[in-house]
Amino acid sequence: MTQIRTRIAPSPTGDPHVGTAYIALFNRCFAHSNGGKFILRVEDTDRVRSSKNSESNIIESLNWLGLTWDEGPDVGGEYGPYRQSERTKIYSEHVDTLLQNEKAFRCFCTSERLDQLRKLQLQEKTQVGYDGHCLNLSDEEIESRLKQGEDYVIRMKVPESGDCEFDDLLRGNVSISWSQVDMQVLIKSDGMPTYHFANVVDDHLMNITHVIRGEEWINSVPKHLLLYEYLGWEPPIFCHMPLLRNPDKSKLSKRKNPTSIGYYEDMGYLPEALVNYLGMMGWTMPSGEEKFSIQEMTNNFDIHRVSLGGPVFDLEKLNWLNGKYIREEMSDSEFIKKYTQWAFDSENIKNVIPLVRERVDKFSDVVDLTSFFLSADVHLKEDSFSKIKLDRDRILRVLKFSLWRLEALESWDKESIHKEFQMLSGQMDLKFREFLSPLFVAVTGKYVSISVIESVTVLGIDIFRARTRDAIKVLGGISKKMEKTLLSEYQNLF
Ligand code: GLU
Repeated sequence: MTQIRTRIAPSPTGDPHVGTAYIALFNRCFAHSNGGKFILRVEDTDRVRSSKNSESNIIESLNWLGLTWDEGPDVGGEYGPYRQSERTKIYSEHVDTLLQNEKAFRCFCTSERLDQLRKLQLQEKTQVGYDGHCLNLSDEEIESRLKQGEDYVIRMKVPESGDCEFDDLLRGNVSISWSQVDMQVLIKSDGMPTYHFANVVDDHLMNITHVIRGEEWINSVPKHLLLYEYLGWEPPIFCHMPLLRNPDKSKLSKRKNPTSIGYYEDMGYLPEALVNYLGMMGWTMPSGEEKFSIQEMTNNFDIHRVSLGGPVFDLEKLNWLNGKYIREEMSDSEFIKKYTQWAFDSENIKNVIPLVRERVDKFSDVVDLTSFFLSADVHLKEDSFSKIKLDRDRILRVLKFSLWRLEALESWDKESIHKEFQMLSGQMDLKFREFLSPLFVAVTGKYVSISVIESVTVLGIDIFRARTRDAIKVLGGISKKMEKTLLSEYQNLF
């Protein structure tokens, strides 16, 4: 019998997301409950957006949750390399086969032409997509344009009519019309493969038997199946999991709910409780028991128990479960050990103590000065901002613009954060102290405290996001309409 092999294939382009952990958990349980292997593959073909930092954060966070893999870039394995940026030669060999067999073609269209085409299609309300302009270029023309050094991409051919039918492990028969499927770019003009191409080539070469991923990928299946067919390969079995949702049923998003695994680590959740909670997203133990470990989930795993109704990621419920773990699974001494590790692990202490030691006369002064580093929130109230000399609209702008600015920051250090804030205050025509004052309150809960820049540096983006979000909420919130206005104002600042 063939060995079952599953994978997660995150793109290292941001914070480690709870959605990645959720998909990892189900892939791992499925593979291990069948005596198979679970693989981590890093999909870093987007040269601009991928970063090593994001990759190591994803690896660290999944390890923290205990969602370890049998093969991957860090642990190796016989199907490596497991990082797509190290496999470019493999993709170009395979795309050559497609070109030779006339299943793919070179497209020299400029981005201006494609933009115009798109605009026209949107205007005329016709299907948006490539119109086949370069589909039938003669060999001579291709030769001469290549000689002239024109930029090109490689696209796949797709059928013009009919439907693509396939079976999804959870959804049964799915049918998608070929007319909805674009002539997908397989190789970009920088020579790198797109997600679709690299993903199919790697799933095949890594012997992946089951592709278990989020439902947002279901519309990509026709392209993927076509590539398997073009390359003469047996496709894997597809299984699209329901998306995690906010309590209001919208797609889980960091604006409404913390989505970064780092946030849960920083807030002092237990990894076993968080992973257990993710296991409850659309899945139940046969016994109905709500508290279970990864091993128990694996032992009882049946993918058909996944229900397709959008599972709601609800912080209240997670808090309840985490509390249950603390009360039922931990002795006092374990609690002390884990709590001390969390609160006083050497990194934290190293970063915080230098900030407060100049201000304390005795150890007992430390707690008051540092409590905002450790507590879940800083208990802001409506009048928390009343002594600030800026009006509400300006305060909201300072908070929101700072968050946007720091979310885009590549290297998280004091100097960079200082530079961002300084630039922003300049662009907003505010004195630096004035600009910092709302941030002081949002982050520390007080008007006077340790340097806000130092504090933000230690707290990290996840907590900074949560604190600014709370502050915006107590100030009355930002409507969708206002958010749009703020975004265009923000974009005009730079
Ligand atoms: N790189 C894709 C992602 O970022 C992987 C999707 C898949 O599993 O096919 O989620």
